[in-house]
Amino acid sequence: MDVIIVCHTEFGHVENRELIFEKDPVGVEEGVPNLVGVAEKYGAKITFAVCPEVVSHFPRGINHEIGLHIHPGWMPVEHKNSRSWIVGDLYLKEHCQQSVNSTILRDYSYDEQLNMITVGKEYVRDTLGIEPRVFVAGKWCEDNNTIRALVTAGFTHSCSAVPHSKCDHYDWSKLPRICMPYHPGEKDYQQKGSLPLLIVPISQILPGISVTPEILPSVGLSWLKAGFTEYYQQNMPLFHICLHSPCTTNQYFVSGMERLLDFVSQHQNVNFKFASEVTEYTPVEPRTNILPYILALNPDNTRTFTRGILRKCWR
Ligand SMILES: [Zn+2]
Repeated sequence: MDVIIVCHTEFGHVENRELIFEKDPVGVEEGVPNLVGVAEKYGAKITFAVCPEVVSHFPRGINHEIGLHIHPGWMPVEHKNSRSWIVGDLYLKEHCQQSVNSTILRDYSYDEQLNMITVGKEYVRDTLGIEPRVFVAGKWCEDNNTIRALVTAGFTHSCSAVPHSKCDHYDWSKLPRICMPYHPGEKDYQQKGSLPLLIVPISQILPGISVTPEILPSVGLSWLKAGFTEYYQQNMPLFHICLHSPCTTNQYFVSGMERLLDFVSQHQNVNFKFASEVTEYTPVEPRTNILPYILALNPDNTRTFTRGILRKCWR
């Protein structure tokens, strides 16, 4: 089984085990090396999808993959307790044409999406010295125009898909929950086709939650382990973990990531890879297997579980 870890590399920090996406450089300056430190203990490879606005804060000499992460527009978002922060990328705002303020990529025309993707890619390449081939859209939002723009800009892999899920800013509802990489079609990014870009969906565990250490406060480590087991026991060829770099500024999440990787790496035939190394696999027929989850249930995670699943549509 291939295992990839894709890190949305952006500003922010953690308060009370919650990610706060304020424009705080610690999310990059400390989050990135902390994640690398944990990954390298287990031979894991990290694909850092980097926002153009954080490039100057990205630590040099990181021997992992560099991709591109785009947050278009510039808008405040309200958080609880009257907190708010700006979503958007200052570099793109200052260097690209953006006819609206929306922070959702599909609200932009093909030309504007291509402009942001190209400008962001060139800036990352010129500053960090590596040409990004892997893309992640802010808020997981892509449409047919995004896919077209990514192909034109020379990207080979997109890691934005949240299978079997839909909310006000993205739609991946046509993909099955357990979904392996596929080449999308020109007319529908959710259907298989022959475009030269591989969509690499994030692994989804029951009842439809993206695999990330960020859900540990809600569902607990045993639930994440159960999700891995569900994939592993039926020989799924890929397990895709995602996270945001501010997450690993916090010891609770660093330790959670370490325990997850420790568990994963104890399995035979696990190959940690960069996202760009993933290829299309021979077709599989995944089934839902609830047994690992039943075995994972304990008083701690059953208490917090309902609350946790209600928060699954996040940034
Ligand atoms: Zn992001």
